[in-house]
This record gives sequence, structure tokens and C-alpha cells, in this order.
Amino acid sequence: MLEQLLEQADQIMASAGAKIAQVNTNSALEEVRVEVLGKKGALTQLLRGMGSLSADDRPIVGKRVNQVRDAVERLLAEKSRNLQQQALEEQLAAERIDVTLPGTGVARGTMHPITLVLDDIKRIFTGMGYEVVEGPEIETDYYNFEALNVPKHHPARDMQDTFYILDDLLLRTQTSPVQARTMEKRQPPVRIISPGKVYRVDSDPTHSPMFHQVEGLLVDEHITLGDLKGTLQAFVREMYGKERGVRFRPSYFPFTEPSAEMDISCFVCGGEGCRFCKYEGWIEILGCGMVHPRVLEMVNYDAEKYTGFAFGMGIERIALLRYGIDDIRLLFDSDVRLLTQF
Ligand SMILES: [Zn+2]
Repeated sequence: MLEQLLEQADQIMASAGAKIAQVNTNSALEEVRVEVLGKKGALTQLLRGMGSLSADDRPIVGKRVNQVRDAVERLLAEKSRNLQQQALEEQLAAERIDVTLPGTGVARGTMHPITLVLDDIKRIFTGMGYEVVEGPEIETDYYNFEALNVPKHHPARDMQDTFYILDDLLLRTQTSPVQARTMEKRQPPVRIISPGKVYRVDSDPTHSPMFHQVEGLLVDEHITLGDLKGTLQAFVREMYGKERGVRFRPSYFPFTEPSAEMDISCFVCGGEGCRFCKYEGWIEILGCGMVHPRVLEMVNYDAEKYTGFAFGMGIERIALLRYGIDDIRLLFDSDVRLLTQF
């Protein structure tokens, strides 16, 4: 009987050792532990069989069982450590980062064509001593129209389809209101340009309901039409090159008298005539004129003493011409395929 039990203990040891060597997961390892050392495990069963042994033999079997238990526990602990180590190594291998791989590039933004053109215009006029002044996009009827010599029911109001918010409040149709606001606050000499967004009820390939203008104003003593022409010619030379021809055509604006539109010789064909300039050789780029005395009187300037000139141009038109874009709406689609070209 004693021999049989000791042999069983050896068998349990051998079998447990083999199983522990084979398992690959913690749960399988736990199964082996329960199978051998658990309440109903092989070793526990064996201890129960000791009842039939003599008092001399029991300690012998007991000692052997304890040896087997210790040995199995050591093997289990060792295997558990191995499994843990293995899991860690697998995780490290899976999460390995190759620092020599090229990184994810950060896309660089580009300047919008409108911003590029505006920056050029600002640079040129600030270089001539002009100050950049901005005003509100939501304007009162007074500043947008009346202070610019366009009273209610004046036919010139039909020239601009206005977005009204209230009877007296609107989205400015031009940057000119900044002129009146500035003149109200200071005495001549006034020398400003006011760039910004303006709004009109209009949308087609050459018109956008929101677009940009730059307005310029100079008021001082002894300012003449010659000063206006000289200033704008200097601007054209800087902006479009020395070889550009300039011509003025009579026009009408309620806030200037006399008024003119300014053309420059086509920068594609040089004046020969092409698709760009509609075969005229000239491209219209701005409106201008001598400030109407009535506009000066509205801000309490002495119109006998002071004279001035004003001009205004659309930025989109200049950007479209400069970059050869044929639909104004492309400028505001936010399509990076277009925008990254500049
Ligand atoms: Zn041309």
C-alpha cells in the first residue's frame, strides 16, 4: 500500500510537470493548479487514501506529498512568471515604434489671393503715407448713403442692391462709410485707405454677394485732380509695373464731382486686345473723383478751404485678373486645390 501511494505521488508530479511545461496561457495554468492542488485535486485525493496506512507509514507519504506540492507550486510560479514575461515582450514588439520612419507632415497653409492683393495695396498706400482705417460691416443708412450725398429716394440707391437688416440698418454696400466716420472724428489733413468686406444682392460668375473693396480718401488744402491722377498712376506703377498705361474716363458717383473710372492697359496683351480685356486693350480697375463739397459739408469741413479726392476698387476683380481665375465664386469655395496654388 505504501509503495502504491508513493508511486502515485511520483506519477502526479511527473504528469503535473509535463502539463505545466505545455500550457501557454494563465487560464490553462490555473486549470492545472486546480487539477493537482485543488480541494478535489489529485494530491488531495491521495492524502485521503492515507487513512488505510499504518501510523509509521503515514509521515512517509505525508512528507512525499508535501515535496510534490512544493515542487508543483514552484513550477506553477515559475511558469506564471514566464507567461507574464512573454506577454510583456509580445506587447512591446506590437507597440514598437520605429523612430527612423518619416513623420506625418503638417500641411502648411497658404495666403488667400484676396489677402495677397490686399496686402500689396496696403503696402503701396502706407508707403505713400496713408493710414489703414477699418469700419463696421453693419452700417446705418446715414453713413452708407446720406453722408455720401445719397439722400433717401436718390436714384443712385438703385445702383446698389442693398441687404437691409432694419429700415435704418444695413450691410454696408461699400467701404465709403469709413470716410465719413473718419472725417467726423478728425480735421484735415486726412489720408486713409479703408479695406474691408461689402455686401450686395448679387450672385453670378463675376459677382459675389460678399466681396472686398479698398476705399481711399485724401482731404487737405489745395488738393487737385492732378494729385488724384499722380497718386493713382504711382499706385498702378507699383502694382502692375512701370510699363502700364493709364487712362481716365468720365463717370458718375454721387459722392464725387467730377468722377472718373480708371483703366489700365491690359497686362495680358499689353494693349493689343485679347480675350482677357474683351479685345479693348484696357481693363477697368477703379472708380475715383474729387470729393463732392456736399460730403465735406456733411462732416462740417470748410468746403471753400479744403478739397480732396477719393477712389475705390474691388479686390476680387484685381485678384481674378492677376491670377487668371474666371469665376469669382471659386475664391470663396475654400477649395484647397485652388488655394494652395498661391
Ligand atoms: Zn488684353
